[in-house]
Amino acid sequence: MELTLWTYEGPPHVGAMRIATSMKGVHYVLHAPQGDTYADLLFTMIERRDRRPPVTYTTFQARDLGGDTAELVKTSVREAYERFKPDAMLVGESCTAELIQDQPGSLAQGMSLPVPVVPLELPAYSKKENWGASETFYHLVRTLLQPQAPAPGTTREPVIDVVRREGRRPRANLLGATALGFRNRDDVREITRLLHDLGVDVHVCAPHNATVADIRRIPEGDFNIVLYPEVADTTARWLEKTFRMPTVRTVPIGVLATREFVEEIGAVTGLDVQPLLEHERAGAAQVDASRSLLPWYSRSVDSTYLTGKRVFVFGDATHVLAAARIARDELGFQVVGIGTYSREFARPVREYAAKIGVEALISDDYLAVEQKVAELAPELVLGTQMERHIAKRLGVPCAVISAPIHVQDVPARHSPQMGFEGANVIFDTWVHPLMMGLEEHLIHMFREDFEFGDGSSPSHLHSSAPRTAGATAVLDAPEPLLASATSYSTATRTGTHEIIVPEAASAVAYDEDEGDTTVAPAAVAITSTRWLPSAESELKKIPFFVRGKVRRNTEKFALDRGIVEITVDTMYDAKAFYGR
Ligand code: SF4
Repeated sequence: MELTLWTYEGPPHVGAMRIATSMKGVHYVLHAPQGDTYADLLFTMIERRDRRPPVTYTTFQARDLGGDTAELVKTSVREAYERFKPDAMLVGESCTAELIQDQPGSLAQGMSLPVPVVPLELPAYSKKENWGASETFYHLVRTLLQPQAPAPGTTREPVIDVVRREGRRPRANLLGATALGFRNRDDVREITRLLHDLGVDVHVCAPHNATVADIRRIPEGDFNIVLYPEVADTTARWLEKTFRMPTVRTVPIGVLATREFVEEIGAVTGLDVQPLLEHERAGAAQVDASRSLLPWYSRSVDSTYLTGKRVFVFGDATHVLAAARIARDELGFQVVGIGTYSREFARPVREYAAKIGVEALISDDYLAVEQKVAELAPELVLGTQMERHIAKRLGVPCAVISAPIHVQDVPARHSPQMGFEGANVIFDTWVHPLMMGLEEHLIHMFREDFEFGDGSSPSHLHSSAPRTAGATAVLDAPEPLLASATSYSTATRTGTHEIIVPEAASAVAYDEDEGDTTVAPAAVAITSTRWLPSAESELKKIPFFVRGKVRRNTEKFALDRGIVEITVDTMYDAKAFYGR
């Protein structure tokens, strides 16, 4: 058992629903109890789809458990086929149905339906949504394409030779975009445009908008592009092994990654991609003609104040790796921590964290993430919808970079993350929650001002509440954080905020005076510190966005040395210590 209030991913059958919903002509029969239809809302409300997902639920109830639930599966499969006449069917079970072991996939396979039936084995108690999507996509593609697989050992002509011989443009398959994916719809549009400009046609895009016939055409494409490894990596590896199709694996999020993506396309297809790259390298003088403004915007003088901003990044592995690189190498932020809930992709995240000298947090426990954010006291959090809540509680600016998402991250306007336009969207989105440079400067100089004073929220985010007591205090003083954390967790999760008040320490000392010799004074561990008023007022002179970090460093410095009362000197000693 694991106490969970928020979960980063749904159960694996939601991943299977994402595949079915992304496609056309695929129907999913889900053996599930009454009530599991809640998942429809993810698609009709959060993603605002104009029709129900193509899912038939068996919706068994308590009274059905005394009867033949297997018969219920067969009836549901038959009726779903007759009503929807799909080109292929997925049949699987939800968490509760897994316990009653009706084997719905095998039952459906035995019904001799005139269309391919893909049985899904998705262990709901050990795997999650993205894994479910990946497995479903893989088994669907494999079922549909296995009959066309060439004999083992057959070779495939290199793409460069095929396109030259046939005198045509190269054809790429885009793999991995799904319903409920973060900005997948616009990423597909953006990458299709980029490929078009390079002279590459999109042959099949799957599962997004693909039909069963499209899946069968995948091997006629020249190569595959894995847009989202969490969903498409397994399938691409199978296509690579079985059909010997080359795979482009660079995920084009960020200007640098997009340039590498373009170069990789050039290497696979033999196309000359340099003219496009040269055009994109355009400097300030050609800024209007350049496609991505991020490189110039981040070099322009207004962005100087962004340099060194401390950022924490969390989300799925693909978006975290991309975001950390953009933050560090394209915007000049200091990445102070990264992490992912994608356990299957923990290794590349760990490797990248080691490369940039930070620790990777691999966890799907949002309390662990909250604790890490509180510890690191970053100036910006890049995360999921969960981190937006965490950042709100801690009073830290935040931007969303990954699923799980809220309705506002399925915007009406074109908002890709990938390609050169995606980099523009990213620049605007990440910088927006930060205090603008001039205001930051003025607040530091005139911190007593009634409107723009210390702790005010950014004026351009005028709808947000002022950072009075609550918000500033969270970064600034430990008590509110303790209060908020204990409301949904245990006090032990709050790290340095687990405070034994000084009175408790003095009570032990008093016992000593009374002759209780079992505890020596030296053994009393200092677990708390107290700020003297002069030190508190010195602390207030420090700009608010780094004050939390200074407070924590000073307290740690004091605790490590058994200093109970923090003075101005302690602060400066700590500053000198950490500045070494
Ligand atoms: S948080 Fe909002 S958008 Fe998300 S499920 Fe709840 S009501 Fe819907």
